[in-house]
Amino acid sequence: MTSDMIAERPLPEITELTEPFWTAAKARRLEVQRCDDCGTYRFPPEYGCAACSSTAYTWTEVSGRAELYTWTAVHPPLLPYFAERAPWPLAVVQLEEGPRLTTNLTGVDLDEYEIGMALQADFEDLDDEITLVVFRRG
Ligand SMILES: [Zn+2]
Repeated sequence: MTSDMIAERPLPEITELTEPFWTAAKARRLEVQRCDDCGTYRFPPEYGCAACSSTAYTWTEVSGRAELYTWTAVHPPLLPYFAERAPWPLAVVQLEEGPRLTTNLTGVDLDEYEIGMALQADFEDLDDEITLVVFRRG
């Protein structure tokens, strides 16, 4: 098999808005935005607060404690990388601080997924630049 036959994993695009999240993940910290005016935590990153419309925020480390909010297993048609690994589980977890993240669980078999199960943030290096935030049993 030549290298061009190996399906490569699509990588997230780092933008000015999301760069602090990726920098923190690389350092094994889970950070989300927190509104400077009303204290609401939010994810994914936005320029303004949905609760109070403030544009002032601080990237803030959170506990990483979460529970499984919902999940699904995705089947083809999928991009080749994921098709080779289907069914590909996708999880939505709710952080103790409130925001929800779409992510993957690690070390959990599909038949063990249970809504409400306790989870803890973990980190998976994809390359020198991208570290994914994933979740394991809490
Ligand atoms: Zn706010």
